[in-house]
Amino acid sequence: MSESGESTSSETPTKRAYRAKSAIWEYYEWQGDGEKATCTTCGSSITRPQRTTTNMWSHLKNKHPAQWHECRKRKEVRNWKS
Ligand SMILES: [Zn+2]
Repeated sequence: MSESGESTSSETPTKRAYRAKSAIWEYYEWQGDGEKATCTTCGSSITRPQRTTTNMWSHLKNKHPAQWHECRKRKEVRNWKS
């Protein structure tokens, strides 16, 4: 078992307003107050009931399966890391 020699435990706190950004946002742009999102692949406007990412995921899955697969992979990696 080898541990990576990580010495710094303190990360610089980000000043930017942080919202938990799901990997799905790599394929969408935030619209207005977040009730809609624009698909950057085809330009579609996706409504977001309760600001969930459900519709965003299903749009990606139905319209852009390749991106959807890619996005799922990234999501898993991110969850794993933090
Ligand atoms: Zn699209």
